[in-house]
Amino acid sequence: MKIVTRFAPSPTGYLHIGNIRTALYSWLFARKNNGKFILRIENTDLKRSKDIFIKNIIETLKWLKIDWDEGPYLQSQRLDRYNHMINIMLNNGNAYKCYCSKKKLEQNQFQQNIIKNNIRNCKCRNIKNTISSNKPYTVKLHISKNKHITFIDTIRGKITFQNNILEDFIIRRSNGIPTYNFCVVIDDWDMKITHVIRGEEHINNTPKQIHIINAIKALIPSYTHVSVITDTLGKKISKRDNNFNIIKYKENGYLPHAVLNYILRLGWSYNNKEIFSLEEMKKLFNLKNLNKSSSIFTIKKLNWLNKYYLNKLSEKDMLNYLKNFFNKKNIDINNGPKLKDLYKIFYNRCNTLNEISNLCIIFYKNPTYNKKLVIKKYLNNNTKIILYLFLKNINHIKIWSTKNIDYVLKKILSKLNVNFKEIAMTIRLAITGIENTPPINNILYLMGKKKIIYHIKNAISFIKFNNS
Ligand code: GLU
Repeated sequence: MKIVTRFAPSPTGYLHIGNIRTALYSWLFARKNNGKFILRIENTDLKRSKDIFIKNIIETLKWLKIDWDEGPYLQSQRLDRYNHMINIMLNNGNAYKCYCSKKKLEQNQFQQNIIKNNIRNCKCRNIKNTISSNKPYTVKLHISKNKHITFIDTIRGKITFQNNILEDFIIRRSNGIPTYNFCVVIDDWDMKITHVIRGEEHINNTPKQIHIINAIKALIPSYTHVSVITDTLGKKISKRDNNFNIIKYKENGYLPHAVLNYILRLGWSYNNKEIFSLEEMKKLFNLKNLNKSSSIFTIKKLNWLNKYYLNKLSEKDMLNYLKNFFNKKNIDINNGPKLKDLYKIFYNRCNTLNEISNLCIIFYKNPTYNKKLVIKKYLNNNTKIILYLFLKNINHIKIWSTKNIDYVLKKILSKLNVNFKEIAMTIRLAITGIENTPPINNILYLMGKKKIIYHIKNAISFIKFNNS
């Protein structure tokens, strides 16, 4: 049997860590078993589905290099197929037209909640379908009288749902659009899906889907419902929370493989191994090592992995990324130190490509000073003297070396009644505008005398203007 898996997102929000995790597990399972991986977009919820989210699905998968063998199939383009199946079901009695109004159905539901475990279906169930009426209607599945539905979930084992808690449910809405549970079943059947790997929020949908599968005499796939991911406060992550939107990680300078490696381990383990190459992922992944309990998303671990992979990045890739970054910001990198020399000094202290870029950038653009620096007393009338003294002494350096720069800094220290930290911070902010940089003598050396003098003069003017 050829293994076929699928990723079937609904384009109702940006893909988050949890969505991608099911995509990754489905993809790896297919790849490991020489199977097929299909991409299907479940967009029958016309109101909430948006094209920008479809674009985001494709962009995210491409960025992570999760490739698909077939698709993307769009459910909105398969309506004829669903309706064909619904007509067959209406004809053979597996489904029926329900003319009850929404209000009536809600009332019915209310009564059922009172009389628990005693589901009563509406009377449309017993009326012959031949009756035609102009009234709008939904199509409902005629649930067979089997006592229960049982299926084996790879992670949780045997799960049983009693039929008496399930009423006949809608498979096509009155607007003519079939419902999620129906489309999933027809698609999985048509696409010959053997293994469904998805989030645990779909466990309750599974008995409904099996009822439909039984009605159309299709094969029941294997089910794996992956446990939820929560934030550090225990709240389930959702599409509405932008913090977990994968493309944000791309924009913030995370490497795709670091993100994949992180997501892989978020719910799956292989002994105590943390680092997985793509080849190892494809070779070692299995369903039996998936965690039953929920997983917690922590940025600290993602940063740790990203740093690990940043250290492994080739010089060519690193420079490509950085050049791209500066290009986008319209920053000319020809009027400063060579990028190749710069990044090597910084990347060890950074977690992301953006952090590296934001440090390199200080050599190519003028610093921006803001009121915060004045309020924090970094650039004010008291620290101005440090800048004056520095300017005077730096001018006299003949041979530009870190040794001579250190000498100047020490000289200022001996003349003023301030500590070295204050001197370094004032000069750092005057020439870079940021509070955290590598050691000041390195920065000064790389920046060069001309630029330093220019920035210091500007900082002095800023102080005069903002502290008078
Ligand atoms: N479209 C569903 C979702 O985005 C997934 C359905 C499934 O995998 O069966 O949650």
